[in-house]
Amino acid sequence: MKKIAILGSTGSIGTQTLEIVRDNPDLQVMGLAAGSNAALMEKQIREFHPALAVMWSEEAAKELRGRTADLPVKVLSGMEGLLALASDASYEILVTAIVGMIGIRPTIAAIESGKTIALANKETLVTAGHLIMPLAKKHKVPILPVDSEHSAIFQSMNGEDKKQVSKILLTASGGPFRGRSRQELAGMRAEDALKHPNWSMGRKITVDSASLVNKALEVMEARWLFDVELDSIQVVIHPQSIIHSMVEYVDGAVIAQLGMPDMKLPIQYALFYPERRPMAGERVDFFKLGQITFERPDTEVFTGLKLGMQAARTGGSMPTVFNAANEKAVAMFLNHSIGFLEIPELIEKCMNHHRVIENPNVNEILQAEAETYEYIEHIKEN
Ligand code: NAD
Ligand code: MG
Repeated sequence: MKKIAILGSTGSIGTQTLEIVRDNPDLQVMGLAAGSNAALMEKQIREFHPALAVMWSEEAAKELRGRTADLPVKVLSGMEGLLALASDASYEILVTAIVGMIGIRPTIAAIESGKTIALANKETLVTAGHLIMPLAKKHKVPILPVDSEHSAIFQSMNGEDKKQVSKILLTASGGPFRGRSRQELAGMRAEDALKHPNWSMGRKITVDSASLVNKALEVMEARWLFDVELDSIQVVIHPQSIIHSMVEYVDGAVIAQLGMPDMKLPIQYALFYPERRPMAGERVDFFKLGQITFERPDTEVFTGLKLGMQAARTGGSMPTVFNAANEKAVAMFLNHSIGFLEIPELIEKCMNHHRVIENPNVNEILQAEAETYEYIEHIKEN
């Protein structure tokens, strides 16, 4: 039996992780955590029988306690609940499928208690990678990528000498607005951004894919996961999303991982690594596909990518400001209070306003996040 827990079980990655559990009877769920959907959490508890469940809001936790009064499950709430689940001794692998920087403290707690991390929550590495990776090393805890590109890179490095990697080629679909002008982008609404051509994902990451901010976050994620220089990571637009990323070696060989765009493969790979398990689903049909294509990213139109690369180069607390400004701006875009191009505009203003802290600790990271949110409030009020 492999015992797991999931942070963010009601979301896109969380529910797909549970589908894999359903298909693999030797996986057992010991704990689940989610934001506010108590009704779905109740269903998940009835099917998967975790001993511990956490809801972010106390109100949702109260509702869940009522719904599950007949079951032997313990229900907690808030950060205290997330930390209790992260450090619970009953399981080995934590799937971090929560969205946003809220994942930092639970991920640290899980590493400190020796858990393997199956990491989907990229915002945690973007903002605190300089703390997380050395901590994982110290506790001899593997951080296994769930993000499809990073899983592809990880698979393409299997059995290779990491010192002989010359370049990481991080592929991107380009999202629903690929090829559009800035003028066209200005009129795009949440409904347009939420129509991703290849992937079905949570709302925040879908908007990030449309703005290419997701790719900037993924460059930073790759840098920490694979311990490579920023300059050796190159973003390649590949609209068909069949090549999930590639690694070039010193002799010029390029190794890639290909497959249909389905997150269940990278999730399952992380859960059973180094074993491969059979998985149902569509296979790549190269004759049907005919051709696959590549483009250079347009950073003049998609300025979020350029700003993200700047934040990455500056380092310190700047990636936190980039990420926090984006989280806030995307939430505002989703509730129609700002336009699509205001997302990078707000990010840029926050980055210009910020005084960088080198090597920030967790409190300084959370402080930079809070200050970024306050600064956006201040901009919007004036
Ligand atoms: P989602 O919005 O579908 O799900 C987020 C989950 O986190 C939900 O269960 C929600 O209830 C929970 N959550 C949110 N705030 C919480 C809080 N404060 N406390 C406890 N739980 C909370 O998001 P998603 O698309 O599944 O993405 C999750 C993470 O995985 C993100 O970091 C995203 O970038 C990454 N990721 C997602 C995909 C994908 O295909 N969806 C692919 C690669 C990476
Ligand atoms: Mg990805």
